[in-house]
Amino acid sequence: MKRISILGSTGSIGTQALDVVRQHPDRFCVAALAAGRNIDLLVKQAMEFRPKLVSVETKELAEKIKLELPSDIDVLYGEEGVTAAAVHPDAEFVVSAIVGIAGLVPTLKAIEAGKMIGLANKETLVTAGNIVMKKAKEKDVPVIPIDSEHSAIFQCLQGEYPRCIERIILTASGGSFRDLTREQLGKVTVGQALQHPNWSMGAKVTIDSATMMNKGLEVMEAHWLFNLPYERIRTVLHKESIIHSMVEFKDHAIMAQLGTPDMRIPIQYALTYPERLSISSEPLDLVRISTLHFAELNFERYPCLALAYEAGRRGGTMPAVLNGANEAAVARFLRGEISFLAIEDTIAEVMAKHDLIAEPALEDIFEVDRWARHAAFSHHVTGEG
Ligand code: NDP
Repeated sequence: MKRISILGSTGSIGTQALDVVRQHPDRFCVAALAAGRNIDLLVKQAMEFRPKLVSVETKELAEKIKLELPSDIDVLYGEEGVTAAAVHPDAEFVVSAIVGIAGLVPTLKAIEAGKMIGLANKETLVTAGNIVMKKAKEKDVPVIPIDSEHSAIFQCLQGEYPRCIERIILTASGGSFRDLTREQLGKVTVGQALQHPNWSMGAKVTIDSATMMNKGLEVMEAHWLFNLPYERIRTVLHKESIIHSMVEFKDHAIMAQLGTPDMRIPIQYALTYPERLSISSEPLDLVRISTLHFAELNFERYPCLALAYEAGRRGGTMPAVLNGANEAAVARFLRGEISFLAIEDTIAEVMAKHDLIAEPALEDIFEVDRWARHAAFSHHVTGEG
């Protein structure tokens, strides 16, 4: 029986992680759940999975939820609550699935407490990859990727020597607007941006997929997880989302991992690694799919991807600046304050203003994150608002 804490239990990854737990009650149980504001769903989850602790975003929400839960479930709130869920003594495995940089501290605390990590939250490694991976090494804690691309690479590398890798190839679906020209992108709406063709995900990651920032964040995540320089991380457009990513070796052999676009598969693999269990998911029928397509990802069409490679190569605090500016710009787009194309302009402007710190401490990262958000929120976009 593996005892699990899920951080971000009410989100897209969190609910699918609980679905995996539901399918294997003899293998998994829930020690703690941390959510933000969706207390109706959290109450349902707590009643079904009976964790020892739940956490919500604010004191008010915690007081409300306490009235609805049995007294043997502890209720906490805020950063302290999420951290308590992350380090809960009953948990041996922590699913890190909060969205944004808010996932960083609890993930780091879980590593410090020696918990195995199933990592969905990309922003943890994007903003503080150096600190997090060093800590994981020091504590001998496995960080198992949940993101489908990184899970694919992780699976392709089983039994292989890292020194034999030539490059990794991350596939990208292209997001909601993959068939639109740059001109057409000027007029798209929030509703259109939230319609991802292949995956059902939270709002922020869906917008990141449409701008291709999601792939950029994944490039940085791959850099830290697999310890490869940026010139050996390639991205390729693959609209079907059947090949989740590939590894090319020195002898030009390429290993790929294939599957239906169902996040429960990489979530379950992270939870059971190195074992595999059956899953109630559509099997992949390659004959029915018949053809797979690949194309170059054009950096001019997707400037956010170029910005992410630039931030990654410059290193230090630049990825945290890119991430903070992106989180703020996406929030502004979702609120209807700026246009879709203004997201990339905002990030580029904020990065251009930043004085890089080459070897930041955690406090520096939070400081530049605050600065970048403020700069992105106050950035005036020409011709708008
Ligand atoms: P969602 O927006 O669907 O869910 C986010 C979760 O985080 C919710 O449970 C939310 O709570 C919770 N949350 C937000 N802020 C806080 C906070 N301050 N404290 C505690 N909990 C908080 O996101 P996704 O599940 O789509 O994505 C989660 C992460 O996984 C992201 O980093 C994303 O990039 C990554 N990822 C997602 C994939 C997907 O298929 N969805 C695929 C690969 C990676 P509430 O809703 O209750 O407010």
